[in-house]
Amino acid sequence: MRRETLSIHGGFGCDPATHAVATPIYQNVAYEFDSADQAAAMFDLEIPGYRYSRISNPTVDILERRVALLEGGRACLATASGQAALSTALLNVADGGGSIVAPPQLYGTTHTLLAHTLRRHGVEARFARSDNPQDIAALVDETTRAVFCESVGNPAGNICDIEALAKIAHDAGAPLIVDNTVATPILLRPIEYGADIVVHSLTKFMGGHGVAMGGAIVDAGRFDWRTGRYPTFCEPDESYHGLVYADRFGAEAFIARARSVYQRTTGAVLAPMSAFLILQGIETLALRVERHVANARAVALALRTDPRIDWVEYVGFEDNRYHALADKYLNGQAPSLLTFGVRGGHEAAKRFYDALRLVKRVVNIGDTRTLCCHPASATHRQMTPQEQTRARVSPETVRLSVGIEHVEDILADLDHALSLGAAPAMAAE
Ligand SMILES: *Cc1c(COP(=O)(O)O)cnc(C)c1O
Repeated sequence: MRRETLSIHGGFGCDPATHAVATPIYQNVAYEFDSADQAAAMFDLEIPGYRYSRISNPTVDILERRVALLEGGRACLATASGQAALSTALLNVADGGGSIVAPPQLYGTTHTLLAHTLRRHGVEARFARSDNPQDIAALVDETTRAVFCESVGNPAGNICDIEALAKIAHDAGAPLIVDNTVATPILLRPIEYGADIVVHSLTKFMGGHGVAMGGAIVDAGRFDWRTGRYPTFCEPDESYHGLVYADRFGAEAFIARARSVYQRTTGAVLAPMSAFLILQGIETLALRVERHVANARAVALALRTDPRIDWVEYVGFEDNRYHALADKYLNGQAPSLLTFGVRGGHEAAKRFYDALRLVKRVVNIGDTRTLCCHPASATHRQMTPQEQTRARVSPETVRLSVGIEHVEDILADLDHALSLGAAPAMAAE
């Protein structure tokens, strides 16, 4: 099945109990065992089955299967949010110490997770000077537990050279973990280019309507954890009476351990209702992405020729430095995130922002609505000015996540806000 079809049918034919064809919501916590012996076998992870919804749930299961199929992966764990997926995936690969190497352009909270939270857990985050593969390669060594990147950076909109980063990671004996939230599997499947693990915030384009938080970890099932650098996968787990994940689960060891260690004990579990809402969203993912992409192109072109705008960063422009990577990885389809600077700098950007009427002043992306963020006052506020510069966020940067409204209505609102926001700077010229 192709991606459009998988979005609708992947991982689910009909409900085994009732033959319902829409996704059933299993809004329950526990599942009855047939016997004490069956319970014991399930608890020993010897047979599959449901026992408690913190570990697995039939509705969440459908979502996990569908996301795994869309990404071309082998196994998936859904989580309560994108950050839960990221912290679980990164701890699962690096708990006990070691380093994680990443480019500087990252989602603000992910940067904080790496730079501060994981550091307190003994994991050393190394941020490269840029997303250039050579700069990443310079920081990789025998302590490296993973190379991590966002396929399309949020909010910078940069595109990482997945194939090159996968080679760098693999040459160093580590997996490549890719956050594919912005691209979605409709535009890019990182596993096809060598990524080992793909992480998502399902809160964004995948769910797509701004109504449910969720995250997912997808494992390609190709990375060999038995190299000596990942003892937690090869040595008996005392918390699970001596189970060795790599032996018992083989190609599904990463997700099995993420579920049995992190999901079970830290509990950032996705609610069945949220899984349902996200699955409803995924059914129209391909259609929505098509419209997001087309609207963003029209908005980028209009802004580019607008004298009230200083600069527009949009990978769909031929002179954008990521254009060639977009051709290679996104089939020439630029994502619907773009950033620009309102003429007049920081103050003009704030006036523009405050004058928006249709476009929403919010921090998220990937909603049906057109959304606008001023990163320096919101998502990237915890960073030092130097860190902001390296993340390519300047004080006047405004980020748009272009929605699927009629494009003329989006353009009219931007025009109105610019007429109020950028006017004084124009007059001063
Ligand atoms: C939003 C986002 C996250 C965090 O996801 P939540 O669901 O908000 O926790 C991580 N990475 C990227 C690229 C994001 O856009």
